[in-house]
Amino acid sequence: MADTRQDDVATAMREHVLLPAQEMARLGTATQPVLTHAEGIYVHAADGRRLIDGPAGMWCAQVGYGRKEIVDAIAHQAMALPYASPWYMATSPAARLAEKIATLTPGDLNRVFFTTGGSTAVDSALRFSEFYNNVLGRPEKKRIIVRFDGYHGSTALTAACTGRTGNWPNFDIRQDRISFLSSPNPRHAGNRTQEAFLDDLVKEFEDRIADLGPETIAAFLAEPILASGGVIIPPKGYHARFKEVCERHDILYISDEVVTGFGRCGEWFASEKVFGVVPDIITFAKGVTSGYVPLGGLAISDKVMARISGENAKGSWFTNGYTYTNHPVSCAAALANIELMEREGVVEHAREISGYFADALASLLDLPGVADTRAVGLVGCVQCLLDPTRADGNDDDKAFTRKIDERCFELGLIVRPLGDLCVISPPLIITRAQIDDIVAILRQAISEVGAAHGLTSKE
Ligand code: PMP
Repeated sequence: MADTRQDDVATAMREHVLLPAQEMARLGTATQPVLTHAEGIYVHAADGRRLIDGPAGMWCAQVGYGRKEIVDAIAHQAMALPYASPWYMATSPAARLAEKIATLTPGDLNRVFFTTGGSTAVDSALRFSEFYNNVLGRPEKKRIIVRFDGYHGSTALTAACTGRTGNWPNFDIRQDRISFLSSPNPRHAGNRTQEAFLDDLVKEFEDRIADLGPETIAAFLAEPILASGGVIIPPKGYHARFKEVCERHDILYISDEVVTGFGRCGEWFASEKVFGVVPDIITFAKGVTSGYVPLGGLAISDKVMARISGENAKGSWFTNGYTYTNHPVSCAAALANIELMEREGVVEHAREISGYFADALASLLDLPGVADTRAVGLVGCVQCLLDPTRADGNDDDKAFTRKIDERCFELGLIVRPLGDLCVISPPLIITRAQIDDIVAILRQAISEVGAAHGLTSKE
């Protein structure tokens, strides 16, 4: 039974839970809405309201809520065998899931390592790049190249690779081995064409490699779309150009598909089918279980594995793992989720409906206050700026957008507040009519809040 004593829940949260984003001056004062249950694309609040889950939790609820097949698989596995040591024991869910993921990933990415979520997936991929170069006898080849606006997680290492600089002052970020490139944000092109902007980004990468020395660089780590950094879709051809540079310098290309994987961009993985690259390593999490239980992982290419196994690797041990690596319940949930997605054609549906989604968001461009809309597959956003000529929002724009998000919530839509963006990345099972509902609420909220800020026409 759902715990519906809303006040008690809110109080216990305020008094005892440290939230993942907590303004310390207000510790114990902010009240979060209490959710009780969910079905399809809707979540229910303890005050009786039903809300559309615009961001699908945190870009993860691919098949929506209340899917009995996944719940049954979890219950069945928990009763049969809830746990087995990944160090000593094999289980069917881990074996079958790894086999399945090898068929869904591009190219020869056939070796899978399971983790507990996205941060541990990226952290393990980076540790793997370190291990790889040690085994190859290149202990100096360890640097990691990343981008501003990238987001890769909350472990010490993945946080250090995260280029959302607003987070930096809070912690000691260890960046001795990490080097940041410019954000590939098309709005930063200024007077340049997108082609010239891309040429400059590639040149910056080449120059950085020359400065640091290719013999010191292990990996380039990149999200296909910079999701939490602002739903940034790099210029066309970006990924292929960067992959070519990586190949020339024997640098691992690690594609962080924690958000973009498992159908979010209308393909099982976005790297190859949407962006034209077969990476050396892909990291995944979130959509692999549609958020029902935690799981993440990475898939590594056979080519990479061949270089550091067999005769080449005498005496080397890959010692990186978690108690919950290969977790039977998580892997069973993922298998049930993937089976369901295949049976219902969820990825194909996301692909088919993506044009409608992009057009629906773009229909808001007539509103004053809407500077940009962008979407790939079913990840999209509306950028709200008081002055639409600005490339990035300032504090006033962020406050403006926050008010829009709050008004959406009152009107029945959860929007992920992300600076000057209203992020919409709904469950992949969403229908056209439900997309219309989302856009109608956005239109009303942006119009009302815009009018309150004196915005009356697009001029
Ligand atoms: N990589 C990317 C691209 C992400 O968006 C996230 C989380 N939003 C992570 C890694 C970290 O994943 P997790 O929160 O599951 O640890």
